[in-house]
Amino acid sequence: MTMATPEREIRKPLPEITPVTQPFWEAAAKGKLVMQRCSACRSWIWCPRPACVECGSENLRWTPLSGHGKVFAFTVIREVVGRALRGFARDIPYVTAWIDLDEGPRFCSNVVECSADQVAIGMDVEVVFEEARQGVFLPKFRPLSGSHPE
Ligand SMILES: [Zn+2]
Repeated sequence: MTMATPEREIRKPLPEITPVTQPFWEAAAKGKLVMQRCSACRSWIWCPRPACVECGSENLRWTPLSGHGKVFAFTVIREVVGRALRGFARDIPYVTAWIDLDEGPRFCSNVVECSADQVAIGMDVEVVFEEARQGVFLPKFRPLSGSHPE
């Protein structure tokens, strides 16, 4: 009798942690959301990089953020296409969103801990850190308790 070979589990990709991004991931593992801020022109820098995209200064400082924000835009993922993304299939439906953080920068993440139908533009959210694996914690956002969209 011939048995079908069970398909090897396909895991979600982990972020590549480089010397430039390492402080971000170290803070995330401690439950803190941080972002580079330019000491010369005060711009927020995202994604992490060696120099400011606005003024070119290399004087960037890792700065704590409150982790609070509002949903600027979102999409509901209801299907994954292609083998590389199959690791996300068990999360369907899930929400990918742009979050406008209270301090100003816009951040792309997932909205979690609620159904996709509950997510709305303008909804108040707060950061929550999910351990992916190997000590890597991903910042995601959940509805701020007691909040309602404007
Ligand atoms: Zn700058």
